[in-house]
Amino acid sequence: MFGNLSDKFESALRKLSGQGKISESNVREAMEDVRTALLEADVHYEVAEQFIESVQQKALGQEVLAAVKPGEQMIKIVHDELVTLFGGQPIVDKEDAVRPEEPPLMYVDPGPTVIMMSGLQGSGKTTTCGKLAGYLKKRGKKVMLVAADLQRPAAVHQLEVLSKQVEDEVEGNGRVSFYSEPDKVAEYGKAVGAAVKVCRNAVEAGRKAAVDVVILDTAGRLHVNDSLMGELRQVASAVNPHQIMLVIDAMTGQDAVNSAKAFNEQLELDGVIITKFDSDTRGGAALSVKQITGKPIKFIGTGERIDALEEFHARRIAGRILGMGDVVSLVEKAQEQVSEEEAMALQEKMAKGKMTMDDFLVQLKRIRKMGSMKSLLGLLPGIGNQLKDLPIDDKQIDRTEAIIQSMTKEERGNEDELTNSRRRRIARGSGTDQRDVSQLVKGFEMVGTMSKQLSGMGGVSRMKALAG
Ligand code: GDP
Repeated sequence: MFGNLSDKFESALRKLSGQGKISESNVREAMEDVRTALLEADVHYEVAEQFIESVQQKALGQEVLAAVKPGEQMIKIVHDELVTLFGGQPIVDKEDAVRPEEPPLMYVDPGPTVIMMSGLQGSGKTTTCGKLAGYLKKRGKKVMLVAADLQRPAAVHQLEVLSKQVEDEVEGNGRVSFYSEPDKVAEYGKAVGAAVKVCRNAVEAGRKAAVDVVILDTAGRLHVNDSLMGELRQVASAVNPHQIMLVIDAMTGQDAVNSAKAFNEQLELDGVIITKFDSDTRGGAALSVKQITGKPIKFIGTGERIDALEEFHARRIAGRILGMGDVVSLVEKAQEQVSEEEAMALQEKMAKGKMTMDDFLVQLKRIRKMGSMKSLLGLLPGIGNQLKDLPIDDKQIDRTEAIIQSMTKEERGNEDELTNSRRRRIARGSGTDQRDVSQLVKGFEMVGTMSKQLSGMGGVSRMKALAG
């Protein structure tokens, strides 16, 4: 997402940044390029116009033309305008920089907080219900997933499978349960009020079971129509959800924005969740939806996996688009995988030179859980765009994992055991070359030596001191 737009923005702004002084016509020229880039990204025409108008006004009105570094000033203006476009708060003073952005979900006390999910068929609504349950489980919440999509009989089963998967696979202190009324599925197509009854009963059951959050997976249709909206309005007025979310598919571009507009006219939406952010769509839906509906994007779906859901942060995404990276998201992803105690324990082992291949394997698995190597590197400032054509290869991690898994327990604990004949056996077992095995061992030994040296120098505390 945004790859192409990012390139175009960068090249338009680069033209300005090279210059000591810029003129009004330079600014207008760059903005023409930006306008083309936005339209090519399938951004709604009016949104693009407004964006350009606003940037231009600020750029020409402020002292950009006389600024010492006009290019940087321009980037800041464009960045802030993107943040505003996404419904966020640009950083104006120091206080803003440390003030956290608004959290995507609000919880009521006493619970349960009722979240109603809506969206067209195929938008990824049911999958997102599961992902959201996982997100909440990680945060210690007791969640109930409710199958109220009685239009698509398979959806009930799909949600049940998902809720089991989240309960089994997502680590966290929360719990995820599933609620359905199988007999109501049989009423599919006949009784209009079936979904309403299911939702009402589910919220009551959730209250009794003292769950924190009830998520209602409501019905979708292929297109917006009166019967869908009627059903959703009935559910909404029957259970009075605390938040109504709309799930839209980024790949459907402006169609997604149009359907968001239609949903918003009929339901009081609180936020939008955009799925398939991982696809190479042009990004128009994400860039237009807030402006067109007035409702903010709360989460983005970044893959088919159950944990591929991220909070949407306007400033961070604006930074990604302008090639400024998104270190905050990277750190958060890492923190989700490793607790502080685990990190300290590992650090201690490394300092004593006691890290084993098994520890290394655990780390590799964590990195893989964080997403593809390329998407992680894309979050690093300044290099995201340059990396996109490089053959950075997740298979390398696969190979390393296979090699370690082909070692015996003793070999994993002590590299000295790895004689040539053993290396040959390991290579055969893992479908790699003996050279690959030796390279891994060598790299591993180097890390060991370096971490011992670092700890001898005062290690991490010293690094922290250096970092200021
Ligand atoms: P629903 O009809 O709206 O309930 O849609 P589903 O939840 O069944 O999802 C439709 C398809 O989209 C499924 O194949 C999902 O795996 C896929 N999907 C959902 N979210 C994402 C996402 O963020 N990225 C990708 N790549 N696929 C997704």
